Amino acid sequence: MSADVDSLLRGMQAYQLGQATLAAMERDQVWPTPLNYEIWMHAVANPDGDLAIEIQRLLKRDKMITEETSDRLAVEFLPKRRFDDEVREAGDQLNRELVSVTTAIKKAQQTSKDYHSTLDSADRSLALDVEVTTVRNVVKDLSTATEAVRTENRTLEVMLEKSTAEVRRLQVHLEQVRREASTDALTALANRKAFDDEIILLCEKADASGRPLSFAVIDIDFFKKFNDTWGHQTGDQVIRFVASVIGRVAGAPRFAARYGGEEFCIIFPNENANLVERVVEEIRDEISTRMLKRRSTNEDLGMITVSVGLAQRTPNEPVHTLIDRADAALYVSKRNGRNRVTNVGASALAE
Ligand code: GH3
Ligand code: MG
Ligand code: MG
Repeated sequence: MSADVDSLLRGMQAYQLGQATLAAMERDQVWPTPLNYEIWMHAVANPDGDLAIEIQRLLKRDKMITEETSDRLAVEFLPKRRFDDEVREAGDQLNRELVSVTTAIKKAQQTSKDYHSTLDSADRSLALDVEVTTVRNVVKDLSTATEAVRTENRTLEVMLEKSTAEVRRLQVHLEQVRREASTDALTALANRKAFDDEIILLCEKADASGRPLSFAVIDIDFFKKFNDTWGHQTGDQVIRFVASVIGRVAGAPRFAARYGGEEFCIIFPNENANLVERVVEEIRDEISTRMLKRRSTNEDLGMITVSVGLAQRTPNEPVHTLIDRADAALYVSKRNGRNRVTNVGASALAE
C-alpha cells in the first residue's frame, strides 16, 4: 500500500474515532472539555479497557461525571503516561543537542590539531630553508589553516548558542509540564497529588526543626443542594470563588490545595496555633459574608458557607492520623451546625 493511501486511511480512522468520541460524550452527558475529549477518546478506542469500564461503573453509580471525577480518571488513566512521554521526548531532544555539540567540539579539536601540525611543518620548513618562495608558501599555508580554525570556531559558537537556547526552552517546557501535573485545572490551586507530596515534606521539616505544623480541612456546606438548585457550572464558579479566598490567604510558606471535589486543605508550617485559628476564621468569615451572583445571568445566589476542621500536629505524628483528626474536627463542625471552625489541637494520645 502506498504511503499516501496509508495515511489517508489513518486519517479516516482518526476522523471516525473523533466522531464516535463526540457521540459517546453526548451519550454520557459530559462537558466537551479538552480533558474529557481525551478521556473519552481513549475509552472509545478501547471499549473493553479499564477506563471504559470505570466510566460505565461511575455513570451507573452517580448518574453523571463531575469535573472532579474527570480529573481523577485522568490522573488514574492518562496523564502519568502523557507526563512520561513529555519527559522522555524532552530527554531525547536534550540528547540530540548534546550529540551535535559533542560532534562540533570534536570537529573543532581536529581542526585545531591540523592547525598545530601546519605550524609544526612551517617551523621545520623555515628552519631548513629560507628561500622567499618557501616563506611565501609557508605563509599561505598558515593563513589557510588560520582561516579554517576561525570558521570552525564560528560554527562552534553558533551551534553552542543554538543548543543553549534549545536547552533553556526545554527546561521551561519541562517546568510547565511539571507545574501542570501538580495544579488543579479548575482552581489553579495545588492538586491532590501535589498535596500528598507536600504534606510529607513539610511534616519531615517540622520533625527536623521541632517547629509546629497545623492542618486545616475546609468543606463547602450543603454543596450538593447548591448544585441541584443552580447547576454544576455555577457550582464550579463557587468552587473557584472559595479557592480564590483560600489561595489569597494561604500563600507560601503556607500550602493550600484542592483536596477533592468541594474540599480544600491548608498546611500551616511554623505557625502558632492561635494565629492559624484566626486565619482560618477569617477565611470562613469572608466566604460566608459574600453575596454571590450567577455570572451568566446576574441572579443572586445567596450566600454559601464552609465548615473547617483544624488540627495541630503532635511531634512525629504520622501524616494519616493528622489528616484523620482534622477530618474528624470537620465533622464536628458539620454536626454542630456548619459554618464554623473546630480545632482539635494536638493529639492527646500521641503526646
Ligand atoms: P455537607 O454540608 O455535609 O458537606 O453537604 P454537601 O452536600 O456539601 O456534601 P457532600 O459531600 O454530600 O456533597 C458534595 C457535593 O459536591 C457532591 C457533588 O455534587 C459536588 N461536587 C463535587 N465535586 C464537584 C465539582 O467539581 N464541581 C461541582 N460543581 N460540584 C462538585
Ligand atoms: Mg465534601
Ligand atoms: Mg460539603
